[in-house]
Amino acid sequence: MMSFRIGYGIDFHRLITGRDLWIGGVLIPHYKGALGHSDADVLLHAICDAMLGAACLGDIGVHFPDTSDEFKNIDSKILLQKTFELITTAGYAIVNIDSTVCLQQPKIKDYIPQMQQTIANILSLKPADVSIKATTTEKMGFVGREEGVSAYTVILVTQLK
Ligand SMILES: [Zn+2]
Repeated sequence: MMSFRIGYGIDFHRLITGRDLWIGGVLIPHYKGALGHSDADVLLHAICDAMLGAACLGDIGVHFPDTSDEFKNIDSKILLQKTFELITTAGYAIVNIDSTVCLQQPKIKDYIPQMQQTIANILSLKPADVSIKATTTEKMGFVGREEGVSAYTVILVTQLK
């Protein structure tokens, strides 16, 4: 019998001028970018946390501490690859991913196919297995005031062993 597990991940980053805005492994042209120890890719971090959660392997801060110089300004695609190796080693394979990015502006709809392809390539999936949705918060809260960006991910995995 096939065994399934779910994982859940959530991430937030502050938006400031003078930083790049990386979301889903894609550079989004904008006058503000996300602040963080790494490249602050909110979507890839939420996906990493969901993957780790599905395997009960802690969270992204445990594996890639923001106090470590090794991870300063690191491309989060590398963190995604390393997280994928962790869950693969633990005997899990990904079935599908569903995510939502909350951002007031800019609109990221046109970049979503590129994000899906980028993530699918790293995780050995098809783009159709990597759903990415985007919403504003109708100008409410920190996202609505363009102070920050958040992302939410759920993932389904199977246990191979
Ligand atoms: Zn993050």
